[in-house]
Amino acid sequence: MDGAFDDDRPPRRELVDDCVHCGFCLTTCPTYVLWGEEADSPRGRIHLMKQGLDGEPMTDSLVKHVDQCLGCMACVTACPSGVRYNLLIEDTRAQVERQATRSLAERARRAAIFALFPYPRRLRLLRGPLRAYQKTGLRKVVARVLPPTLATLDALAPTLRSVPRPPRLIPARGRRRATVGVLTGCVQSAFFPEVNAATIRVLAAEGCDVIVPPSQGCCGALSVHNGRRAEAQEFARRTIDAFARAAVDYVVVNAAGCGSSMKEYGELLPWDPRATLFAEKVRDLSEILVALGPVAKRHPLPMTIAYHDACHLAHAQGIRAQPRALLDAIPSLDVREIADPDICCGSAGVWNILNPEPAAALGERKARTVLDTGASLLVTANPGCLMQIAAAARKLGTPIDVAHTATVLDASIRGITLS
Ligand code: SF4
Ligand code: SF4
Repeated sequence: MDGAFDDDRPPRRELVDDCVHCGFCLTTCPTYVLWGEEADSPRGRIHLMKQGLDGEPMTDSLVKHVDQCLGCMACVTACPSGVRYNLLIEDTRAQVERQATRSLAERARRAAIFALFPYPRRLRLLRGPLRAYQKTGLRKVVARVLPPTLATLDALAPTLRSVPRPPRLIPARGRRRATVGVLTGCVQSAFFPEVNAATIRVLAAEGCDVIVPPSQGCCGALSVHNGRRAEAQEFARRTIDAFARAAVDYVVVNAAGCGSSMKEYGELLPWDPRATLFAEKVRDLSEILVALGPVAKRHPLPMTIAYHDACHLAHAQGIRAQPRALLDAIPSLDVREIADPDICCGSAGVWNILNPEPAAALGERKARTVLDTGASLLVTANPGCLMQIAAAARKLGTPIDVAHTATVLDASIRGITLS
């Protein structure tokens, strides 16, 4: 080992050298927008990686500025030189996670987060106590005395709805056009089961046999986005196994962060040929619906919505047109754009829990731009963004309803109103 990084996948020098320091990425980087510090910009972080490759040790500064990156990938979209910052930050985070000496409190906080969030069963066990807590008047009192991390979790928690677990097979309505597997996810299945139910109904209405493999668990997105590569590899391997048994044409994902990391399984498991084959089958819900084309009748939804690009859908997967095309095709639905769409809402997986104060500032900024549209409903395709923007709007004293794209499509297909 020479410099900050060991030999286990250090950030690649040729990717670092692609950066020509032009600064086109700066204004889309949420941490640079917040703090105006070069080291908290994509260019600054790449420079720190270069210093590490050139022999500088792993400094507290490197750890801090890498930890403060949201991984939103707005810089990847903005970069005219095609710098693959996604690969650089993933490799650097894994190095930081292995080598950084964190305080006892920080280690305990991270251990608690990663003992809970990637485990849908553990999250589902929380539902009962959380619903009971939400029904009591205690919430307002307790929230005032919680430390920042717990206060953030408390503020983010959505109002939980009771939805039966989906069956393993849901047959296509009418002629079958594809057989798809659906990832139910961790946070999505625990806190937004109605989104999974809507996703399945929409796919079936559009002619898909839908399989929900019961043995699926976490896809590994949270782990890989936080440098916990070995853990992510194990989750990815199990996900591949679960869907291989189902023999599906496509694996459909309705959570942007999960979809983006599943499309990169080939990078995560380079020695496993099944990983690349699996990744080629992964589709965001909006992608597959647009590719199939609509067969189910859309009923009017006379309301005004604002559509928010989740970073891991727009920047990491390049999916912007498909959700808009699906929403624009709903009769009477007025779809409004949000100002500064490239700036992250501050959710970023568990970044908002690890960095509650800057996350709240980004959330407030996003909520204000959403409210400025005059929409009565915020629509997006990631559970983290739904919770983050709803919490920020509540905090501003102007709560707004939020819904996943699948929920809006489902309501239109079924001819029901959204409330
Ligand atoms: S991923 Fe997002 S937060 Fe990180 S450097 Fe790029 S734009 Fe900034
Ligand atoms: S836009 Fe690309 S090349 Fe320019 S500074 Fe940012 S990362 Fe480097």
